[in-house]
Amino acid sequence: MYCPFCGAQDTKVIDSRLVADGGQVRRRRECLSCNERFTTFETAELVMPRVIKSDGTRQPFDESKLRAGMQRALEKRPVSVEDLEAAISRICHQLRATGERELPARELGEFVMEALQQLDDVAYVRFASVYRSFQDISEFAAEVDRLRSRTGDKKDGKDGA
Ligand SMILES: [Zn+2]
Repeated sequence: MYCPFCGAQDTKVIDSRLVADGGQVRRRRECLSCNERFTTFETAELVMPRVIKSDGTRQPFDESKLRAGMQRALEKRPVSVEDLEAAISRICHQLRATGERELPARELGEFVMEALQQLDDVAYVRFASVYRSFQDISEFAAEVDRLRSRTGDKKDGKDGA
């Protein structure tokens, strides 16, 4: 980077070390023109993208809202708190991994649906019916049928018990 003292373009790193338990890199630099020394700190930018609602307003990502929505879908379903929390942290990771500063709520919804589908089919359909707002009842029925046939495949051989 440019020298903050004289603006020269050539500065060299004379020392580089990890600080803050490895969460940060501290670099000591020296300007090749004026010989001034300065320090830079480098950290990964792990900012959650803001959520763009369908009406165009932006809101900060709210993890407790996400949790509440998923809990509602999972009500009375056989899914442990541990599995739910693991799913939430995966979603948060996916959000950060997009590298976007803003993300349509629809895309967040897709991440949530993907996670719920892995946790519990019923919770998935509950959430999807609200979030994706199925165009009509036949589309919703088709999704339920798809899940039912998949579950049927899984249970083949166990029927009749
Ligand atoms: Zn300089």
